[in-house]
Amino acid sequence: MTQKLKDEILELLWSLRERGSKSYSKLIKDINDKNAPEVIIKMEKAGLISVTNDTIELNEKGEIRARDLTRRHRLAERLFHDVLEVSMEESEHTACEVEHILSPEVTDSVCAFLGHPPTCPHGKPIPKGKCCYKYTHDVKPLVIQLKELEVGSQARIVFITFLKDKSTRIEQLVSLGIVPGSIIRLKQKGPPFVLEIDETTLAIDTPIAEDIYVKKI
Ligand SMILES: [Zn+2]
Ligand SMILES: [Zn+2]
Repeated sequence: MTQKLKDEILELLWSLRERGSKSYSKLIKDINDKNAPEVIIKMEKAGLISVTNDTIELNEKGEIRARDLTRRHRLAERLFHDVLEVSMEESEHTACEVEHILSPEVTDSVCAFLGHPPTCPHGKPIPKGKCCYKYTHDVKPLVIQLKELEVGSQARIVFITFLKDKSTRIEQLVSLGIVPGSIIRLKQKGPPFVLEIDETTLAIDTPIAEDIYVKKI
């Protein structure tokens, strides 16, 4: 029980830091568990975190664990939500369970299987694993980036990562019918990438093609 709460605290510390907060009181409020203060003292003794006044920070040991948990959680969300098409709420719930049990090897296999996605379905960054750098893995990926698809192949869009700086392009893509579930055929590799959706032929830039993840059919 305590292990799970410890993990939840580490994960929350990671995501609060992404939002620019290292506040102890904010963490306590968000974690909403009466055992948290006591567990935090234990975690401090174990060298996972440091608390000074209202500032709570990850130490090296805690940083590694928090990173791994976040990575597993966000990859699991991608797997359940985008590939298995489970609802967002249920994906989130399942991801919370799975993150505690996936081994590093299985995690890297899931990552390779999903084409090493840079973000979760909420748009938050997925910390990279070893697999994301060497790209030589035994797992045959189910999901690949559009740019890796062979010309002439048909594929279904599984997810689009919508990296932050490209937010203005989202509406544009949606209006073109480039949304998860759409069936496309790749007619030309970029730049520009030329796709066919239904009867329509579209040209898109390489950065957009890199955001689109597909499953070959
Ligand atoms: Zn997420
Ligand atoms: Zn990877």
